[in-house]
Order: sequence, then C-alpha cells, then structure tokens
Amino acid sequence: MNLLKEIKKSRPFVIAGPCSAETEEQVHNILKEISTDGKTAMLRAGIWKPRTRPNAFEGLGELALPWLIAAGKENNLPVTTEVANAKHVETALKYGVDVLWIGARTTVNPFAIQEIADALRGVAIPVIVKNPINPDLMLWIGAFERLQQAGITQLAALHRGFSIYKHPKYRNIPNWEIPIALREELPDIPLLCDPSHISGKRDGLLEIAQKAMDLNYDGLMIEAHPNPDAAWSDPAQQVTARGLNDLLGKIQLRKEQLSEEELSFIVVMREKIAGLDDRIFSLLAERMKMAEEVGLYKLENNITILQQDHWRKVIASRLDQADNLRLTYPFVRSVMDAIHQESIRHQTKIMNQGPKD
Ligand code: PEP
Ligand code: MN
Repeated sequence: MNLLKEIKKSRPFVIAGPCSAETEEQVHNILKEISTDGKTAMLRAGIWKPRTRPNAFEGLGELALPWLIAAGKENNLPVTTEVANAKHVETALKYGVDVLWIGARTTVNPFAIQEIADALRGVAIPVIVKNPINPDLMLWIGAFERLQQAGITQLAALHRGFSIYKHPKYRNIPNWEIPIALREELPDIPLLCDPSHISGKRDGLLEIAQKAMDLNYDGLMIEAHPNPDAAWSDPAQQVTARGLNDLLGKIQLRKEQLSEEELSFIVVMREKIAGLDDRIFSLLAERMKMAEEVGLYKLENNITILQQDHWRKVIASRLDQADNLRLTYPFVRSVMDAIHQESIRHQTKIMNQGPKD
C-alpha cells in the first residue's frame, strides 16, 4: 500500500484497534465494529507486546497474526502491528501485514533498529516509527535514517510521549516540542499522535487528540477494545468502538490555510505586534545604555555591581504590578531576571574594560 498517499486522503488518518490481540473473537468483533463507522483508515493489534515487567501478558505471537490479517480482508482496510526484531519482521511479512510499526522501546535502541532495517532491505513496506521512550530527538531521527538507508521510503512518525516517573496527568509526557522539531527536520514524513499511550486514561484522550490536530498532525492511533476494563494489556486507556466514534466526532478540525479576510486581520495585527516588539527592544537597548552609565559610576567610585537589597525591592515592586497588568508572576519574574542578567553583563564589561572612549 502507499501509506503516504493514504494519509493525505483523510485527516485525521485514524489507526485503531486493541492494544493486544487476545482471542480470535475479540480481534474479529472489535475490528469489525470499528470499521463500520467509516472513520478508521487502518486497523491495529499488538501481536508481540513489549511489557515493562515480566509475567505480564506478552502477546500471543504468530498464532494471532491470521486473525488480524482476516479482519483487514473482511473490512477492506490495511492492518499494522508492532515489530521489534528481525524474526517479527520475517513473520509479519510472511502473513502479509500491510504496514509495520516500531515501538518506543525499540526506537531507543540503534542495534534493534539496525536489525529491523537490515531485515527490511529490499522490501517495499511502509513503516511507522514511534518516538523513543526518552526525549531524544536524534534517536528518533536516527531510526528514520537507518530505515531510509535500507531503502524504506514509506515512513511515518508516531508521537506517543516520553517516559516519566509518577506524573499526575500523563502516562508518558508529551513534550510537544520534540515532534514539532522532528517535523522541522523531516518535513516530508507525516506525523501521527497516539493519545492512548500519552494519556494512559480514556478520559484524557480527547484533549490530547484535539491538541495534536491543532498542531496540524496528520493522524491518530487510538486503542479500542470490546470490553476495555477487561483488556489483557492497557485496560485504563482503551475505549469501546462507540467510545472511539464519539471521541472522533468531538474533535474539531481547524484549518491551517486562512481566508483573505482572516489573513488580512492577522497580518494587520501581526504588524502591530511587530511594532510593539520594536519598541520593547529599543527601550531595552536604552535601558542597557543607562545601566552602563551606572556601571561607569560604580567603577569610578569602587562600588560592587550587585546591590542585593536594591534588586530585591525592584523585583518585589514589579511582581506587585503583575496582576494589574494581567501578566503572570513567572513571566514577570523571568523577564526581570533576564533584564537584570543582561544589565550585569553590560556593567561587568564596563568594569573590566572601562569606558569605550
Ligand atoms: C502499543 O502501541 O501498544 C505500544 C506498546 O506502544 P509503545 O511502543 O508506544 O509503548
Ligand atoms: Mn498499548
């Protein structure tokens, strides 16, 4: 299949299905239910499950592959599953899986990625690469490069968040700046989001899916199960087919392209804002000049650059004004700290070099 073409056809491009294939009936029922809504473009099921701790359900392996393939044929949709080593690749190809995905625990390991890339040399199959579990953009990019060097051209990225210890909100913290940076580096690779593994809870999915679409992602991978609470893996984050349908129905798709009218409003406002920024920066430059004059005076009179007590008062009075100006405390604090640091740099230069002329 041509994954890149298919992704362009529908936004969001939705991949859905159970975290794990558990029984023939479960795979058949959930994938059929999902498919009837017409909102899902590709079916997933985990066959080999990378579990953090031993003795958890590690997937049924090859036994379950024919169930996934059959569901794809029956519902006329392509299917995908996770591969983590050359043996998985070989088995998935033997059964005719349409698209492979590489999980977060594999992307993190260049040896494993290279093994998969070598197993795929000369095979024209699309591969979706999840981000590594740690927030390392270069490892993610490296995985794409290894696959590209093995001749794989149909590639997509899947953002599933980054491991974190006991976060109150996320199972895996999103660090949105990393997938955004990936898109800057590899603009031709479509970007999908996996709200299920980012949130870890089904009631957190919509917020993450909406944010992904507002950041112009191309699609979503969402886990769905006929009876989520009884799932053999990831029960808290899976939704029923109906839950998936509701969720997809609630996502608002906002456009990236602007109409003439919207564009002219935004252009005018952006110009005004740029004008304000010009003023802010020329005031800052003027302020630094004054700080230099004070620095010169301190040099001539042998006074230290920093008077801690004075600085404490300056900060306190600015923070007092924050509410009236409708600015947040952390913002005021960090702007003042940045200005102060720059003043100290200017005064230190004067102290070390004396006046310019
Ligand atoms: C999964 O999609 O079921 C999975 C194991 O994902 P991840 O690699 O993101 O943990
Ligand atoms: Mn899962």
